[in-house]
Amino acid sequence: MNETKARAEDPKQGKIEPGSQDTSLKAAPTRRASGRKKVVIVGGGFGGLYAAKSLAGKEVDVILIDKKNHHTFQPLLYQVATTVLSPGQIASPLRTVLTHADNVEVLLDELVGIDLEQRHVCLAKGDVISYDYLVLAAGARHSYFGHDEWEEFAPGIKTLEDAIHVRRQILLAFERAEREAFLKEGDDNLSFAVVGGGPTGVEIAGAIADIANRVVAPDFKTIDTRKTRVMLFEAAPRILGMFPEDLSQKAKVQLEQLKVEVLTDSPVETLEAGRIKVKGEWIPVRVIVWATGVSASPIGKMLGIEVDKAGRVPVQPDLTLKDRSEVFVIGDMSSLKDTAGVQVPGLAAAAIQEGAYTAKNILADLAGEARRPFTYKDKGTLATIGRNRAVALFGKVELSGFAAWLLWALVHIYLLIGFRNRLTVMREWIWSYITGERSARLITGNDV
Ligand SMILES: Cc1cc2nc3c(=O)[nH]c(=O)nc-3n(C[C@H](O)[C@H](O)[C@H](O)COP(=O)(O)OP(=O)(O)OC[C@H]3O[C@@H](n4cnc5c(N)ncnc54)[C@H](O)[C@@H]3O)c2cc1C
Repeated sequence: MNETKARAEDPKQGKIEPGSQDTSLKAAPTRRASGRKKVVIVGGGFGGLYAAKSLAGKEVDVILIDKKNHHTFQPLLYQVATTVLSPGQIASPLRTVLTHADNVEVLLDELVGIDLEQRHVCLAKGDVISYDYLVLAAGARHSYFGHDEWEEFAPGIKTLEDAIHVRRQILLAFERAEREAFLKEGDDNLSFAVVGGGPTGVEIAGAIADIANRVVAPDFKTIDTRKTRVMLFEAAPRILGMFPEDLSQKAKVQLEQLKVEVLTDSPVETLEAGRIKVKGEWIPVRVIVWATGVSASPIGKMLGIEVDKAGRVPVQPDLTLKDRSEVFVIGDMSSLKDTAGVQVPGLAAAAIQEGAYTAKNILADLAGEARRPFTYKDKGTLATIGRNRAVALFGKVELSGFAAWLLWALVHIYLLIGFRNRLTVMREWIWSYITGERSARLITGNDV
């Protein structure tokens, strides 16, 4: 049994340890070998999927490898975590999205090794696949700044499983408070902490407040969920640091209208089950949601080059590795200042542009044309704050309140993958807007 095979059968496998993989294996020929150039894409997130879509129907063979069978629309994950949407409404099977792309094969597997010299990748199920071009688009997770042990008590939201876990924690918090108050006349403390005042933290804090103030309030007979305490902790002096100061101030005001306590200059010192320590004080909380820090895919460290503090791979202006023009690293995994000197942000829009751009450059190579350096086109930044409220920045144009929220909703419907998803999300939002009901208020799992 080879080493990659052994790792696949190890129940603890899933974490890639740089250098531990055996890459000295021979690549097996793939079934549909056509003699055309072979492009292997790792990751079916925004970068990888848009690269694959842009290569669909072209004179290349593409293999898209992902450890999940679906593409997740991460900007709406928080809506799954806060009971607005169901998982199936924000995710699409990769195979379905690429059903008409005859030259694109999808493999459900995990990359565990790369041999840059031999030009092949090793997969967790033990197979080895060769490439002419490799596109690495395996994304990032949250960083706990050296305290990975916090993850157990303060989950982040990066995958559908994470979102369902957080949804469960939020709904259980209300159930437990009701039970304790009803049976014991005891502790009905309902406090939630959200760590990180970027767009995700702001969105989650606003959405939890909305659930407490409006959605579940009529259904609980003993506790008053409107007294729920939602605290948003941000280490910096203001939330939404990427927005101009006046917009971040407006976001703060809108959060406070929802009764969210915005605590800036408040780095979290430590945390454990049921409490969080900030400025030397332990604060009891039922749920902590983590929404800060970036830790790029461990695949970056396999490449044998120096990565930045967040594990991102520095790339050339054409998004390739230095001296490896056949290896592209895109999306949240990579770090680049583009031709205009702009640090490309870790956003879906950037990953999409990089995916499409990479495909163009591969096709340019095949046509014997010159590659072009990547330039990021900033299409604006949005952050929503509960129902009806948002802030938006488009170049010099700033919006806040209902107009920004409407724009946010339209942009997200437009960007969602799949017509069915667009339709069902729109229907769900309209229904929830009119009735205040949430269709995904389910606690799944056994231990209550
Ligand atoms: C909660 C949340 C909210 C966000 N909101 C916004 C927003 O409002 N606007 C915005 O522009 N951006 C937003 N982002 C950021 C945006 O989602 C990311 O920048 C974008 O997803 C990056 O795309 P990517 O292709 O690099 O990686 P991803 O989209 O993360 O995709 C990575 C893919 O690689 C796969 N993968 C990972 N490791 C392996 C492996 N070893 N083998 C095989 N497959 C692997 C994963 O399963 C995944 O499908 C948000 C992110 C989060 C988490």
